[in-house]
Amino acid sequence: MAEEGGGEYLFKIVVIGDSAVGKSNLLSRFARNEFDHHSKATIGVEFQTQVVEVEGKDVKVQVWDTAGQERFRAVTSAYYRGAVGALIVYDISRKPTFESIKRWLDELNTHCDTAVSRMLVGNKCDLESIREVSVDEGKNLAEEERLFFIETSAFRATNVRKSFEIVIREIYDKVSRKIL
Ligand code: GDP
Ligand code: MG
Repeated sequence: MAEEGGGEYLFKIVVIGDSAVGKSNLLSRFARNEFDHHSKATIGVEFQTQVVEVEGKDVKVQVWDTAGQERFRAVTSAYYRGAVGALIVYDISRKPTFESIKRWLDELNTHCDTAVSRMLVGNKCDLESIREVSVDEGKNLAEEERLFFIETSAFRATNVRKSFEIVIREIYDKVSRKIL
């Protein structure tokens, strides 16, 4: 979904990753600058829309949240349909969530074109004292899989906007060059 209608762009971005890595909080931080300490996984797909300016143009960004579906390994193909960007999220304080990244990439690849802009996100970087995944491990995986890489904290609002903006800018470049 990278349409230009009436001079306006609409980009669909999906957020994927294991349960409780902070996907919903990254989204609420991005869309409303809010953090929720007691976020309960609600079931069913949800998305939020934000207008972001890129090179003087308004880009409408629709960010989709799995909203708990991932707990049942039941993220449907409808969730991925039309996506032009993806944030693949793990929790730097829980190694198993990092080990799941390859599986999430496989799933993304079965549903989406390889041109989809991808960002590997190591969330909860505020939890340095209980870190289980080093920055280098994240970087290396991103290099191997040709992904952007960033560490974020939805809690402290570190790099959250930046993570979305890098992806949005790359999508914009690809759309302008008609790659997407
Ligand atoms: P989701 O299941 O991936 O959508 O994860 P949530 O956004 O619901 O977050 C799961 C839990 O992690 C919640 O208790 C959040 O408060 C907490 N959390 C999310 N992001 C961060 C973060 O950046 N730092 C810390 N310390 N906790 C976080
Ligand atoms: Mg959630």
